[in-house]
Amino acid sequence: MKREAVTVVGLGPMGRAMADAFLDQGRRVTVWNRTAGKADDLVAAGAHRPADLRDALVASDLVLVSLRDQDAVTALLAPEVAALRDRVLVNLSSGTPDEARATAAWAAEHGVAYLQGGPRVPPSGIGLPESVTFYSGPKDVFESCRDDLAVLTGADYRGTDPGLAMVYYQLEEALLWMTMTGYLHAVAVAQANGISAGDLLPYATRTLASGGELLAFYAPRIDAGDHEGEFDSVGSAAAGIDHVVRTSRDAGVDAHVPEAVLQLFHRGAANGRANDSSTSLIDVLRTG
Ligand code: NDP
Repeated sequence: MKREAVTVVGLGPMGRAMADAFLDQGRRVTVWNRTAGKADDLVAAGAHRPADLRDALVASDLVLVSLRDQDAVTALLAPEVAALRDRVLVNLSSGTPDEARATAAWAAEHGVAYLQGGPRVPPSGIGLPESVTFYSGPKDVFESCRDDLAVLTGADYRGTDPGLAMVYYQLEEALLWMTMTGYLHAVAVAQANGISAGDLLPYATRTLASGGELLAFYAPRIDAGDHEGEFDSVGSAAAGIDHVVRTSRDAGVDAHVPEAVLQLFHRGAANGRANDSSTSLIDVLRTG
């Protein structure tokens, strides 16, 4: 089912890109933002901008919301929630899985059909079918707006638990930011040794590119509970990470990040994992 009308609440870079994508498809787009001026370009491109949030919510039976966080969503929508009754609310704002579940429970209490979304792209990826957004919530709600959501990105429906979209979203965020921090650390050490980011590029690229192969090797072993440490023991990895820490210090670079990694490996060794694979640290992480 394709809807003629859609409302977008929240016009940060993401919300604006979403409203733009619907306008490009010739849909009737209603927009609302706390700072009304952010809608000027969209209004010039044909969007409607009612003065009241309530009017924006009743203008379409599909309402997308893209705000800074989940607190902003409930704080903004709570006073007008009656206007959302029997409408579909797709919340594309980030948060923790539990926060998303709480927002979903709040919506259900008020008779609002709810989907949580987690877009895996920056604003420039909105409007591209090859981009991906995670969704979760009731399957029938997802199916009812699948064609509309396809205007934004491809959809990866993760299940009925509304927290799941945020679980997958935050897993990728965690991987991204921890990997990115590793890269930033490497560049800092490289620069301290007279090596530029450009010089490092082919080496860093090669290292990261090998990551997929490594994960494909590890994932089935992890799922089988196999933490044989025949070639990647926690003890030997700890010795290697200690060299990373000292190389950083020698270069005058803040060593907090590799020190935190080393501390984790030392905890693993102290918990009897010295001869197990570094994947055994998953258990150490899970039990604290
Ligand atoms: P921001 O995260 O900067 O959010 C901006 C929007 O939130 C604005 O509409 C702002 O209103 C509104 N807002 C914030 N607090 C409140 C409040 N208390 N009451 C009402 N409105 C409020 O913008 P983005 O577009 O970048 O992100 C939107 C969401 O998408 C975030 O959850 C973000 O984590 C997520 N996301 C962002 C990506 C990106 O690359 N930017 C990628 C994937 C997800 P006002 O204009 O009045 O300040």
